[in-house]
Amino acid sequence: MTSPRRDGDTWDLASSVGATATMAAMTRAIATRADDSLIADPFAEPLVRAVGVDLLTRLATGEQPPGDLVGQAAIDGAKVRTRFYDEFFLDAGLEQAVILASGLDSRAYRLPWPAGTVVYELDQPEVVEFKTRTLAALGAEPTAERRAVAADLRDDWPGALRAAGFDPARPTAWSAEGLLGYLPPEAQDRLLDTITELSAPGSRVATESRPNPRPGDEDRTKRSLNRISELFRSAEFDSDMAKLRYFGERNEAAPYLAGLGWAVTGRTVRELLAAHGLPPLEEDDLRMGDVLYVRGELTK
Ligand code: SAM
Repeated sequence: MTSPRRDGDTWDLASSVGATATMAAMTRAIATRADDSLIADPFAEPLVRAVGVDLLTRLATGEQPPGDLVGQAAIDGAKVRTRFYDEFFLDAGLEQAVILASGLDSRAYRLPWPAGTVVYELDQPEVVEFKTRTLAALGAEPTAERRAVAADLRDDWPGALRAAGFDPARPTAWSAEGLLGYLPPEAQDRLLDTITELSAPGSRVATESRPNPRPGDEDRTKRSLNRISELFRSAEFDSDMAKLRYFGERNEAAPYLAGLGWAVTGRTVRELLAAHGLPPLEEDDLRMGDVLYVRGELTK
């Protein structure tokens, strides 16, 4: 059973919010197999396999076709999202990068980082330790100097980041991918404030900015998440996706970052799908098409 979110809750990669990281990696594994011209994440499949949730392994390995469980919109969404963050880091070209809520993201092992780059990956302890252990056992070598930081983003994560060697005097490329909806609204604001405080001029940030709900949107989103959770439950994977997110009004990330002094640009998922020649979304109860992928640069 999925427990409702509470302050200080924790998880591994098979439970609660941790399972969303495994599902994201499973979708990247499917997307990579379908067509690796946009994204190629060779570590997604072995990482999901190592987590050991039977259904997610079968989907990631292709033993079970995605069918209704992982629709084309989710697969195409994973392609444009992964590509967006890959390009963000490569375009930034900065030698200090921080991947917040890194989950099973393998960028520290697969992107051609500039020589001398240090990549900090921050997530809950069981999540970062699992990835470090699993990729080492697979013989994977990071393509940058990778430093894993075990911390909760609702706590003193800057202290943990500094203890790992992070230098706020150097410009940083930050990403917060697939994260903000899993934080309470005030924790999202605090996170963006803290990123800004830790950012030297020339720093960059990338994240998603979800539009605030119109009347009826949240009910539709919850119904849709419940439908997907039900499909997964009937395939013997128990997750209650609507319980993992925080709903309600919150500051939208793009204008909030702009208010903190970041020069912000963004493209919606709808625009990114079209730009990559992928089909438009048909049903969109989750308002995925309106999600804005945002880049910011600090020129202060
Ligand atoms: N960024 C990864 C990706 O796109 O594949 C993972 C995204 S997954 C949907 C959400 C991630 O956020 C999980 O890895 C989870 O552990 C992390 N996360 C959520 N809330 C967190 C918190 N309070 N502290 C640390 N990590 C958190």
